[in-house]
Parts: sequence; structure tokens; C-alpha cells
Amino acid sequence: MEYLDNDIKYVAGVGEARAKVLERELGIRTLGDMLRHYPFRYIDRTRIYRIAEITDAAGLSYVQFRARVTGVGYAGAGRKRRFTACVQDPTGSAELVWFQGIKWIEKRIEVGREYLVFGRPSFYRGELSMAHPELETVEQALSHKAESGMQGIYPSTEKLSNVLGAKGMYQIVCNLWTLVRERIADPLPEALRTRYGLIPLREAYYNIHFPQSQELLRQAQYRLKFDELLGVQLNIQSRRTARLAKSDGFLFPKVGKAFNTFYNEKLPFPLTGAQKRVIREIRQDTVTGFQMNRLLQGDVGSGKTLVALMSMLLAVDNGFQACMMAPTEILARQHFTTIRRMLAGTEVTTAILTGASKARERREALEGIASGRVNILIGTHALIEDRVRFADLGFVVIDEQHRFGVEQRARLWTKNAQPPHILVMTATPIPRTLAMTLYGDLDVSVIDELPPGRRPVKTFRYTDAARLKLFGFMRQQIALGRQVYVVYPLIKESEAMDYKDLTDGYEAISRDFPLPQYVTAICHGKMKHADKEESMRQFKEGEAQILVATSVIEVGVDVPNATVMVIESAERFGLSQLHQLRGRVGRGGEQSYCILMSGEKLSRESRARLDAMCETNDGFRLAELDLKLRGAGDINGTLQSGMAFDLKIASPTADVQILTLSREAAVSVLEADPALATPENRGLQELRRRYSGREEMDFSRIS
Ligand code: ADP
Ligand code: MG
Repeated sequence: MEYLDNDIKYVAGVGEARAKVLERELGIRTLGDMLRHYPFRYIDRTRIYRIAEITDAAGLSYVQFRARVTGVGYAGAGRKRRFTACVQDPTGSAELVWFQGIKWIEKRIEVGREYLVFGRPSFYRGELSMAHPELETVEQALSHKAESGMQGIYPSTEKLSNVLGAKGMYQIVCNLWTLVRERIADPLPEALRTRYGLIPLREAYYNIHFPQSQELLRQAQYRLKFDELLGVQLNIQSRRTARLAKSDGFLFPKVGKAFNTFYNEKLPFPLTGAQKRVIREIRQDTVTGFQMNRLLQGDVGSGKTLVALMSMLLAVDNGFQACMMAPTEILARQHFTTIRRMLAGTEVTTAILTGASKARERREALEGIASGRVNILIGTHALIEDRVRFADLGFVVIDEQHRFGVEQRARLWTKNAQPPHILVMTATPIPRTLAMTLYGDLDVSVIDELPPGRRPVKTFRYTDAARLKLFGFMRQQIALGRQVYVVYPLIKESEAMDYKDLTDGYEAISRDFPLPQYVTAICHGKMKHADKEESMRQFKEGEAQILVATSVIEVGVDVPNATVMVIESAERFGLSQLHQLRGRVGRGGEQSYCILMSGEKLSRESRARLDAMCETNDGFRLAELDLKLRGAGDINGTLQSGMAFDLKIASPTADVQILTLSREAAVSVLEADPALATPENRGLQELRRRYSGREEMDFSRIS
């Protein structure tokens, strides 16, 4: 065991109780975990503010000021009971508040004495107040050495900050440092460090926690980012090498009856040039003897499903089974219906398996797949359950990839002695380097051409005040025989309210669009499966003109006669989600419209998102803009939670340059020593293990 693997509870100031909270709230269990818990910002502890300088407009998140206590007292009752202290400096006054630990603070605080107060300012009617500030007498404060003055502020959670404040956390890191400072081994060989201009690891850790200067802080960040991305790249490159070395990919040399019958007799329209090219690329991959691992990017509506189907037919022609996995029940059912319809009259057999499959459907799928009678299985995550046994799985399609992880893909491999070819499809364009970091080792194909005859969707922004105008427009479109989606956001944290908005909206629409002239269907996650199906059917078959839904229809639903997409509270959706939703219309030859409804008051960022939607239909441009808007510093952002690798400091979008260098480093190291077996590479082996990928991922938060 490495020294840094020791339990965090042994650090002075931690102990059993806090260790438990640290693990539960932040996943910090060992000394190493704590050492890699980096500040997300730094404050200048040498700067002492005047009360008058601390205003709402100044936007300060932590401050310290020097003030005299002029009075203390109690306020509120029961659970609201709190202890308050009034403080004053020559420029103004402020209120300090404690809701917990009242006895303790009451005993220590002295009226008439001067303190250095440190904490998060908040404002009530323009007056400064501070909850649970940290206090030091001025004498105590003066006894510290000033150093560079930069003190780290560590990521925390509400529960954790109840037992461990900003200063407490800092103190623990100080104590930790005295324990571990002599125990830090640098995993990077000297030569590598020199080549990439990296400071030693020990110095990097020291300066990330206790920056001695801005410059050293920058170098520390650079070094630690490099290590993380190198760890990831060592994994990706090793996997790639292993995959290419095995050359145990299934061979699909034949183009046979299944493919040809479909191509010559069933294909409802000519393929676009881009579709043809991608099918050729896939075909080339499957005759090399290597296992294919390919990412297919194509904007919404570019016709990825057809490419998937024709690739699966190639597998069938060569005696293999294929499966296609979709992120939601509705999508899986839709793919199943589309594909079964397209394959009608051919000998290719299909089945479906989802979490909601009834006993009979499930039995048929499981038996058909195990016996080899079924050629193509379509479904949801249920496909990777242990019970699913394929007779001969040769090809796997994963639709809307960002909902599946490396780990889940790996589970598919174990369904065979030999790994199947894998095609992952996404409508969210991702730069190649980023795709590799997110999803591992992939080749990339792009469909950069929409089927002919599509008219670009026109996009408008309405405020809620323009609802009458909106209803008028809907009426007009419906009179032309078209259909309308009305989509509401559904965010976990505000689920109850979101459902209320949705049902209120549904009622309002039903009133304004009354039966029998109009039929409005509704579809959301709380409905019974059969009711949802019925709503979708009504809308698909044109019985209902309006579908009110949550973003379950976000991905992949296909109703070409729908020409209007109304998005309610559009400011609450992310750009890629908005673009996905818009892609639900504009699928037929008619002019289509996307209407973004929002309140009057919008944040700058929301406004930029909605404006961008009105300006362009180009998914690639929107994706780039999205990355910019969401910003590099958003470590806890949605992107991060979808990532296969647990990065603490590096951001594959913001640190592209380091990403490129680390990949170059990984390739050259592995070329010379594929197993990382030499003594100088032992540290790299450890680094590779640390970043070998997450076992469980939360995909629900990805937008
Ligand atoms: P996505 O890439 O978003 O998954 P789909 O595969 O759902 O797109 O295709 C969108 C629509 O375009 C479908 O209705 C499909 O039948 C149609 N389509 C696909 N390829 C072509 C083509 N080559 N020509 C005309 N229409 C096509
Ligand atoms: Mg699709």
C-alpha cells in the first residue's frame, strides 16, 4: 500500500466523524484523495476590506474585514432561533449571524473587542450580513505569516460546510501537508518532465494548495492538468494498441442478400453522398480483421438511422447478429417500428427488448437472440443485462452516444468471446480529441449533408406575453393540415413544479383548441406506459394535431408532418438540447418553425443561447458556441459528469493544448515500453491505473 492510500481520518483535525462526511459528500477517503482535492479559487488574505467597500455590486464571494463588536443578542424562536452580533468599522456596520453552535460562539465573542471577520457576504436591503463567519482577534491574525496571501477555497457541499468551514478545510490541508510532504513520489520520468517543461509533482501540490506566487500557481496547475490528461491518454492509447494488436475483429467480406434486397427493393429514397461515404467507411473497417470502434456524427435529421440499419444488414449477410441500443424506451420502440417496416418482405428478423417489455415480448427476444433466430435486436439499456445472451453478436449500434459510457460498452464486449464491431452515433458534434477523452478510443465519421429537399427551420423568440399570437399561429398551421409539438422542460430538482407547468399548459391549450375540432395529446414520464404509447400513436398517425410533452421527445422522434416546435421556458434548456428539439421538425418538405418561449428577464447567457438558435441551424456551430458559453471553468458542468474519466482540474475543452501534448507523450512512451514495465515507468503505470475510467456514470445529467 502506498502511504497516500492511508485513511484521511488520521489527519489532525479530521477524525472519524468528519472523515465520514468527507467521504459521503466529496468521495474523499484517503490522504491522496485530499491532496487531489484542489481549491477552485483563491482569495487574497492580505487584503482587508472596509465595510463600505463590501457592496452587492462589488460581487465579492469571500472577504475579510476588521471590525469591533458593538452588541450581541438573540433573534427568532424554535428552529429559526439565531445568535447575532453587530460589528462596526469607521465606514459602516454589519450583522453577523449564527444558526448553529450558538453556545460556543456566545462564550467566545466579546463585546467591545476588535476582530478580523472572514466569510461570504450577503445583503439584506443593502445591509451587509454574514452567516457563520470565521472570527479571529486582531492579535491572533497578526501572529500569522502573510506568505503570498493567496488562500485556497475548496469545493464543498452544504452538508459538509456545516461541520467544516472554509477555514477548517484549509487547516486540514495544512495538517495533511506536514504529513505527506516527504512522501510524494513523482510518477513522471525526469526526461519527460524536462521535455514538457513540468515542475516536480511535490512542488505542484505545494503550490496548488499554498501558492507562493501567481507564476508558481500557474505552473502547478499546468503540471497537475498534464498528469490527469496523461493518465487518461495512457489508458486510451493502451486500449487502442491492445485492440489493434489483437486483430480479432469479425470479418464481413460479403455483401449479400439482406443488404442487396434492401438496397435495391426497399430503400425509399436515394442515399445522400455522405451516407454512402460513411457506409463505405464502415464496410472498410469490417474487412480489415480489426475490431471497429467508430463514432458517427451527423446533425439531427441527417439520416443516421439508415446508415445504422444498412451496416447491421452487412453483419447479417455475414452470418452475424446485430443490435441497436437507444437511450429511451420511446426511441427504441420508434426505431423498432421504422426498421421493421423497412425490412417488411425481406427475410431479416427483428425483435425488441426494453425495460418495459412484457413477459411475452421479453421471452421472444431472449429466446430468439439466444437461438440465433433473431437477426437484429433493438432496445434500451436492457440489452446489456446479464441475462441477454446472443448466439453470435457481430455488430452493435449505440444511438445518441452521450448516454452510454465506456464501461457500458465494455459490458457489451463480454457478451462475446470476440468483441463485436461498435458504431456509436451522436447528433452532438464533438472535436475528435475531446471525443476520445469522453468516450475512449474512437475513429470518427461525419455525415455533413442533409437529405435533399429540406427547408431550413425558421426560428423565433416570443416572450410569454405573446401567447395569443402563438396560439393564432398554431391555429393557422393546423388549418394547413400540419401538427405542433409543445415541449416543457423537466428538470429533476424542480420536477413537481415542472409537471404542474406542463399540466397547466395542457389545460390551457385544450381550452383554446377544443374538441371535436382539435385533439391535443399529452406525453410525459409519469404516465402509464400504455397511455404514453397511445398519445404517441395518436400524434404519429395524425389524429392529434398537438402534442404536449416533456423533453422525452428530445431525441430521435420522427413525425414528418409536424412543422411547429414550441419550446416553453426555452431559457432553461441547454443549446444542444434546443437544437435537438428543433430537429424534430423540418423533416418533411414543408416550411417548419421553431418558437422559443421565454420570460422577459433573461440572463446574459440565456439570451445568447436563444439568439444563437435564431441565427443558425448549423449544429456544429452551435456546439462550438455552447462550449464557449458554458465556459472552461465549469468543472462541475454537465460535460464533466458525462466523462468516462474523473478529472479534477483539467478540462478537455479548455485545455486542448495540454491534451494534445499529453497524447503525444503517451504515444511515445507506450511505443518504447508498451507495458510500462521498466522501473522508470512504474509511476506512469500507477497514473494509468488511477485514470482507468469510472465504473458507474450518471448520464441523466447530460444535456
Ligand atoms: P437522425 O440522423 O437524426 O437520426 P433519421 O435517421 O431519423 O435522422 O432521419 C431523419 C429523416 O430523414 C427520416 O424520416 C428518414 O427517413 C429521412 N431520410 C434519411 N435518409 C434520407 C435520404 N437519403 N433521403 C431522404 N430522406 C432521408
Ligand atoms: Mg436519430
